[in-house]
Amino acid sequence: MTANTIYQHGTLGLLVPGLFEGTITAGELLTHGDTGIGTLDGLNGEVIILDGHAYQAREDGQIREIDATETMPFASVHFEQPDVSVDVKGLSQAEFEQQLLTEYQLENVFAAVRVTGTFKHIKTRVAPKQTRPYQTLVAATTKQPEFEGDNVTGTIIGYYAPHLFQGATVGGYHLHFLSDDHQLGGHLLGFDIDQATVKVQRFADFKVHLPIDNAAYLQEKFDNQAIDTAINKAER
Ligand SMILES: [Zn+2]
Repeated sequence: MTANTIYQHGTLGLLVPGLFEGTITAGELLTHGDTGIGTLDGLNGEVIILDGHAYQAREDGQIREIDATETMPFASVHFEQPDVSVDVKGLSQAEFEQQLLTEYQLENVFAAVRVTGTFKHIKTRVAPKQTRPYQTLVAATTKQPEFEGDNVTGTIIGYYAPHLFQGATVGGYHLHFLSDDHQLGGHLLGFDIDQATVKVQRFADFKVHLPIDNAAYLQEKFDNQAIDTAINKAER
């Protein structure tokens, strides 16, 4: 398996009208990568995949390892083989994101970003588990628990994608977090780096695997404008 491909199951866009049914097992997903992010069946929390293990950050703040039989409607993975590894100190989120964009010319590139170290501050949110009939993504994420910590040791993992691919995925940065002690995790809303090692891996290939056996997916009439608006609202 090439280390030069992002493998994505589903699209961010399919979550927008509420297609939250899991359509790939964690076991199968992990054959396509050992590192990544996603969400579980029913939009049940945030998925963080590190070193071949998939974890769920739940809406009650608990973190647990995901079983191979559990399913996901959307996830992205890759085999970790960073191009660069650099140490950084005292960077705000804005400084960090701009520095990466400039230094590695990411604007039109798919890249994985992994930041391991200590953070002065971390703020996450976790999508709450939905029940059928599913609401839209925006409705489902209007009220979602947020979690914060100071002086946290852990790992940021996620991707940068060219804005051209907004809808297929999140255009720009999409980052998740897991603390080393598994006490804090989720979709990253904000962070402040104390000191950390940053690893960047650039990809020439972006592979999308679609749930073509899922009836709801086949019947959906997607609206690009609504998808763009919803992603900006629900994923940033
Ligand atoms: Zn997320």
